[in-house]
Amino acid sequence: WPIRYGLRPAERTGEMAMHHLSPLLKQASQVCVDHGEGSWLVDTDGRRYLDFTSGIGVTSTGHCHPTVVAAAQAQVGRVIHAQYTTVAHRPMLELTDALAERMPEGIDSVAFSNSGSESVEAALRLARQATGRANIIVFDGGFHGRTMAAASLTTSGTKVRTGFHPMMAGVEVSPFPHAYRYGWTEEEATAFALRELDHILKTRTAPSDTAAMLIEPVQGEFGYYPANKAFMQGLAERCRQHGILLICDEIQAGYGRTGRFWSHSHFDVTPDIVITAKGLASGFPLSAIAASEALMSKGLAGSQGGTYGANAVACAAALATLEVIDSEQLVENAAHQGELLNERLHGLKERFPMIDTLRGKGLMLGMEIADDFRTPRGDLAARLTSAAEAQGLLLLRCGTEGQIVRWLPPLTVSSAEVDEAVARFTRAAEQVAA
Ligand code: PMP
Repeated sequence: WPIRYGLRPAERTGEMAMHHLSPLLKQASQVCVDHGEGSWLVDTDGRRYLDFTSGIGVTSTGHCHPTVVAAAQAQVGRVIHAQYTTVAHRPMLELTDALAERMPEGIDSVAFSNSGSESVEAALRLARQATGRANIIVFDGGFHGRTMAAASLTTSGTKVRTGFHPMMAGVEVSPFPHAYRYGWTEEEATAFALRELDHILKTRTAPSDTAAMLIEPVQGEFGYYPANKAFMQGLAERCRQHGILLICDEIQAGYGRTGRFWSHSHFDVTPDIVITAKGLASGFPLSAIAASEALMSKGLAGSQGGTYGANAVACAAALATLEVIDSEQLVENAAHQGELLNERLHGLKERFPMIDTLRGKGLMLGMEIADDFRTPRGDLAARLTSAAEAQGLLLLRCGTEGQIVRWLPPLTVSSAEVDEAVARFTRAAEQVAA
């Protein structure tokens, strides 16, 4: 049983063993949650856990932030489902304005869905319809979702795309500057990746057939690899030159997580389409794509919509989330706490040689567990996260072997909580190293 897939059904204990959840829906931990508050989750037996997973980067304002809870509760009593292709509603309209204000210059039109994958597909449809071109270039290791087209755009690992081929046609995969993986410098990896991109445009998909390049400016599921300025600007330049659209998937790295509101802004590029979800509504299912009105208008009528998109409660929660991000200066806090966490984890790297390297930005940090010669050690990473769980600290893993321990606390995390998490992880690492 590959350890990275989590618990075998028979290994489920207590509450979880007694019910009828699909055996394929496994949990990374043994925890069955009763409630959450800020950076903490409390299980059904009353045990408290520091949650440095944030529901895979979703609970940006922490669990059950009082402002978000109040806004959602008030909206539930007003209207829950004001179906957005039947009627408009205020929380949705106000959210389009609030989002447009945060978007890069010129991006002023927003369309909603429920999940990240749906919005990735909406971006794909728009790019194809607006350009009249079929092909999409994605970057090696990117994760864009699990629905059929989104899985076809995903190369972070075969577990997302095994057993249901063929994938959607029209996707070309170009290298991402994974300097650590290649054993090169960032400059070498970047020069290689841009050279290969040019090669792909000459050998596999001519610019005139290429609708868009789709990229996570900081890769998530593959292993917390930030791109860099030279690479992102290289993409933007080629897109400009050939009329190809640049789409940034900001679903995991956006909304303040990397210490800037949008992760692409670290690299001084302006995308044509921004995709957002996760942190957008503090846990309510909501996602969006944004583009200039001129670009959005080139899509076909009826190509955006769905039953549940822009749910009124989710939109009210999203407005409250932005209010909290502003009033509590959460983007600044993410940058500040991210630096502190990075510094503390670097200290641990000195002490525990199995921590081969640390990557990431802000509160999106990944710890690569490997032995000599960079052999990934998913087994050790799994023991680390289990030992951390026993210490009351929840962490997730990612990477093809589950070899990366990832740190993504809520943007509200305090310095005391960062220190407490590192202390708990240190005890876990001491046990695993012993
Ligand atoms: N893109 C990125 C960068 C993601 O991290 C994810 C989710 N992990 C998705 C797309 C897919 O989002 P969802 O699971 O909401 O469909």
